Order: sequence, then C-alpha cells, then structure tokens
Amino acid sequence: MEMLKQRIREIGVVLSNDVIKLDAIMNHAVDPVLTTEMGKEFARLFAEENVTKILTIESSGIPIAFAAAQILNVPMVFARRKKPLSSDSAEIYSERVPSFTKGFVTDIMVAREFLAAEDRILLIDDFIANGDAARGLIRIIRRSGAHLVGVGIAVEKTFQAGGRTIRETGIRVESLAKIVSMESGTIIFE
Ligand code: 5GP
Repeated sequence: MEMLKQRIREIGVVLSNDVIKLDAIMNHAVDPVLTTEMGKEFARLFAEENVTKILTIESSGIPIAFAAAQILNVPMVFARRKKPLSSDSAEIYSERVPSFTKGFVTDIMVAREFLAAEDRILLIDDFIANGDAARGLIRIIRRSGAHLVGVGIAVEKTFQAGGRTIRETGIRVESLAKIVSMESGTIIFE
C-alpha cells in the first residue's frame, strides 16, 4: 500500500536493524486518514470471506482493526495483555506469548463470550516480527472453535520469520507494507 510506505519513509525511525518506531502514525499517535485507508484495504482484501468479527490485540492494533470493522460492518474484539479481575479459565481464553518489543513473556486474553464457534475471524495487527503475538491469537481462535479467514498486518518485516512461518501453515497472511531490510537505518520495501 503506497500511502503507508510513503508515511513510513517520512516518519519511521529505525532504532536498530530489526526495530522501527512508527509512533507518529500508529504506535503512539494515530493518523486517521491513513488508518481509514488501511481499514479499507483490509476490507477489500478479505471482502469475499464473509468475515463476522475482527480480532486484534491492544493497543496499536485497535485503530486499524476498528477501521476495517467499520467498513466490513462487523464487531471488533481486542485481546487484552493484562488479566482482568476475573481470570477464571471458564470465562476467558488466555495464552502466554513472548513480547518482541518488551523482551519478556506476557499473558494475552479474550473473554470467551466474544468469540463464538460460528465466527469467521479476521485477525489484524500493526506489525509482524517473529509471529508470536499472531500465533497466540491464532491459538485462542482455534480454542474457541471459530474459523480464521486470515491475518491482516500493517507492517511485515520479512527478514523476520513470523509472516513466512504462519503462511507455511496454510493461513492467508496479507501485509500492507513489507520491509525486507533496515540495515544501517535504510528502510527497503519489497
Ligand atoms: P511478534 O510477536 O510478531 O514478534 O511481534 C509483533 C508485535 O511486536 C506487534 O504487535 C508489535 O506491537 C511489536 N513489534 C514488532 N516489531 C516491531 C517494530 O519494529 N516496531 C514496533 N513499534 N513494534 C514492533
């Protein structure tokens, strides 16, 4: 998606060979025009899939998932990173995932009431790096009995294994911008 790549070129701050800061458009501030366009693109890509619900994870996935949900006219659910007061396993699905940016393991959870076996879920997130966040969410979807129609990612870093390994399991992964390298601070798109 050219508009996203252009904004990444303008505001992206490469912190290391494998981490890029996109605070000005999605990780701290939100660009509503760009976010709406990302939502439209995901809605277009998955238009034939009869999506009934969009699942994302707090916090940066929320605006993008919301934009797509509004266009597809379906509810959006976001996984939480903290256990709620009631963390009874009869009420929630919980998975433990390593956090790429924080460097430690976190628990993610979704209340069982928000995922139904009849659902056709589109999973959306801001970034995919090693794929741990997406895999944790996919495990939750599987446990609910819902059908995963695919994964929509704003920024895929293709030099990290997440997107590739998830595609290898047969899951459709669509990324709006693919970064193949950030060596020496230079962002190179596929
Ligand atoms: P994964 O679980 O695929 O290794 O990492 C995905 C999660 O880590 C995303 O939800 C995102 O929040 C965060 N993340 C991964 N790589 C980057 C990055 O280069 N920049 C930022 N800002 N977040 C990232």
